[in-house]
Parts: sequence; structure tokens; C-alpha cells
Amino acid sequence: MARDMQKLVIVGHGAAGLAAALSAAERARSLGLRTDITLLEKAREHEAGGNTRWSPSNIRMDAPDRLAPGFEEDMQRASGGRADRAYFHALATNAVETIGWLKAHGIAFATPIYYLSAGQARIQPVGAGAVIVEKLSHAAKAAGVRTIYEAPAGRLVMSEGRRISGVEFELGEGATAIVEAEAVVLATGGFQGNVVDQDGHRFFDEGGGLVHETWERLARDIHFARPKRIAYAILDSRLFDIEGFERAIRSDVPPLRSETVDGLAAQIGTPAGNLRETIDIFNAAATGDPSRFDAARRDGLATYRITPAKSNWARPIAKPPYLAYPLVGGLAYTFGGLATNEKAEVLAEGGPVAGLYAAGETTGHFYGTAPNAVAVLRALVFGRIAGREAAGFLSKKNR
Ligand SMILES: Cc1cc2nc3c(=O)[nH]c(=O)nc-3n(C[C@H](O)[C@H](O)[C@H](O)COP(=O)(O)OP(=O)(O)OC[C@H]3O[C@@H](n4cnc5c(N)ncnc54)[C@H](O)[C@@H]3O)c2cc1C
Repeated sequence: MARDMQKLVIVGHGAAGLAAALSAAERARSLGLRTDITLLEKAREHEAGGNTRWSPSNIRMDAPDRLAPGFEEDMQRASGGRADRAYFHALATNAVETIGWLKAHGIAFATPIYYLSAGQARIQPVGAGAVIVEKLSHAAKAAGVRTIYEAPAGRLVMSEGRRISGVEFELGEGATAIVEAEAVVLATGGFQGNVVDQDGHRFFDEGGGLVHETWERLARDIHFARPKRIAYAILDSRLFDIEGFERAIRSDVPPLRSETVDGLAAQIGTPAGNLRETIDIFNAAATGDPSRFDAARRDGLATYRITPAKSNWARPIAKPPYLAYPLVGGLAYTFGGLATNEKAEVLAEGGPVAGLYAAGETTGHFYGTAPNAVAVLRALVFGRIAGREAAGFLSKKNR
């Protein structure tokens, strides 16, 4: 028989936190455990949802009921053999069940349309990450989870014997409050054409691979190595001849546009001579047969003897109007974070910290490069595991 109300606090209203909150509520109910579950979120209600809300949430699965073969080996390859085998095994074995659970909560999945070129199989929630936030938030509240928005958590409160006793959060104007907790789940997320730089020079093989193979290197290069941390995708009007070209444009601003290269350079704020020279050199090297151009696959239409090369899709830029889309890097994945195991327990030097769990981007597990289309999946899978484990922990304590 349950004695008292057991208190669980979850921090973060993204995929991981919401999955944790809902699964904890469900598990507690199935155990007959009386729980008081509070979710703390630093953003305002209509802005809550972290990166999940903005993410297309592509998931590396062949179908909702089938993980891509070789998933665990891929994780090892991406991490240079350093990935935690037990963690990724748990991710693989829980993936299908977690997608089924999401479907039961009203989230439908479909095969996404690629930007332009087809790549490995993926599934995607219909309505992308925003739907995950909407549906799980609604279901968690219906299951009794109390959500406090505009409540940035600042400190874990520990009592004697390193026992978790609460989470301190800000009320504004320097005031703080503590919400009591016997267990806590941390799900706060991460810390959070032809490309020329601000000087009008090319610096990247724009045709080096499909978008998901090159975006991370390009974003890092722009952010860490380019003047003013900005670059411009230079295109000409043949862009409009490509069927479905709008799918490839991930921008909420219209491109700069001019009938002349000099006019475009003036809008970018780059020396016109530099941009003209870059385009002239590029055009002279784009000697392949333009009829071979195929935006939907690696077409092998490469430049001839320039550095950097453009290994596919290299056609001269010669048909006005000329266009320039500004490009800046953004934080999609972080590396490093809390160490957790396959039960989503937070690990300290001496092993798991009793009652403390974490999931999603706030946990480590990626090394050097982020294997694409895994972040949302692991946030959901380990959020769900964290909630379940936390409810199980409270139930044992209550006996
Ligand atoms: C543009 C973009 C595209 C992406 N595309 C993909 C993709 O296709 N596939 C994929 O797998 N991944 C993708 N990602 C990455 C993926 O979206 C994230 O890794 C994932 O959503 C992280 O989920 P999370 O729950 O851990 O964190 P988040 O969704 O970031 O949620 C964290 C929440 O915690 C809150 N919070 C933070 N600190 C505190 C605090 N102190 N107190 C209270 N609340 C706090 C935040 O406000 C936020 O609501 C993309 C990311 C971006 C930005």
C-alpha cells in the first residue's frame, strides 16, 4: 500500500522531459503509487519546447516498426569506437516500442521527403518536433503532471547522505523557490549553391555529399573559420527550374537578389572584384556537360582543377537574376554532458546517484561527430526510460 505522496521533479519541456513526465505518470499509475510530478520549464508556455520544437525530428529508422540494420555498429563507427555499447544497445532495443508508445499518444509517423537528394531511410513525426511537444505536453498534463513555466531550475538540493530533496528554481527579480523531490530527471537540452564567405571567396566543396553528410562541417566552418561567422549561398535563376527546389531552402528570409554580380556583391557588402573573380574561376572550371545535372542524386558533375572542388552539381553561374542566401551556424547538437547508463541513471565517480536521472541532449554519448537522426530518438527513448525508472525508484522507497 502506498504511504505518502511521492515527489518527482522533471526539468525541461522538450522531447526528453515530456517523455519522462508522461512515462513516470503512467508507470506510477500502474504501480498504484501516489505521485506528485512537477515539470519545471524556463521558457514561457507558448515558447517552451527547446530544440525539439524547431527540429524536423528525422529519426534513423526504416519504418516505425523497424530499426535500420547495423544501427549499433553505426554508432560505434561515428564515435570512433568510443560509444557506450550498453547505452546504444538499450536505445536500439527500445526504439520500436517507444515509437509505438508515441503513436498511441496520437503522434503519426511518415517517411520524410528529402531536401532534394534521397538518402538513408528515415521516419518523421507528421508535424515534426512541434507535434511531439504538443501531444506529449497535453498527455502529460492529462495524466496529472503539473507544469510550471518561466521557472529556470538553478540547483539540485541535496540533504544529508547525498539524498535528493528538491530543485531550486528562479521566481524572478532574484527570488527563488524550492520544489521538493525524492527523485529528479534532468532534461534541459544542449548548451545551447555555391558558398562564398564575406570576402567573396569559396571555401567549401558544396557538392561533397548529401545535405545530412556535409551540413555539420559546413556550419562549423562558417561559425569558427569564416569572417563575421557568415557565408552566402550564391545561385542563379536556374535554381527555379529544379523541381521542388523550395524543399531545399531552409530560410525564413528571402534571398538577396540582383541582375548583376556587382549588384549582388554590393548587397552582401563584399568587394565586387572578389565575387566576380570567384564566379569567373568557378565557371571556367565547371566544364562538365550541364545536361547531366541531377539535383536528386550525386550526379558526378564535378569542377575541373580548382580548389576547393565542387564534386557534384557543378554548373556555371551565369543566368540572372543572381541570388544569395545568408548562412549562419546554429546549435543543433552539443558534445559532452552528464554521464548516464542504460537506465538513464546519472553516474558519478562512485556509480549511479540514487534518484537522479537524465535524458536527451544534456547527456553525453556522442564523440567528435553527431550521428544524424539519432538525437530526438534518444531523447524520447531515454526520457521514457528515465520516467519509468524514477517511478520504480519511488515505489521501492515507498515500500
Ligand atoms: C534546426 C534543428 C534541426 C534538428 N534536426 C534534427 C533531426 O532531424 N533529427 C534529430 O534526431 N535531431 C535533430 N536536431 C536535434 C534535436 O532536435 C535535439 O537534440 C533534441 O530535440 C533535444 O531534445 P531535448 O529534450 O534533450 O532538449 P530540448 O528539446 O532542447 O529541450 C530542453 C528544454 O529544457 C528547457 N531548459 C533548459 N534549461 C532549463 C533550466 N535550467 N530550467 C528549466 N528548463 C530548462 C529548455 O527551455 C527546453 O524547453 C535538430 C536540432 C535543431 C536545432
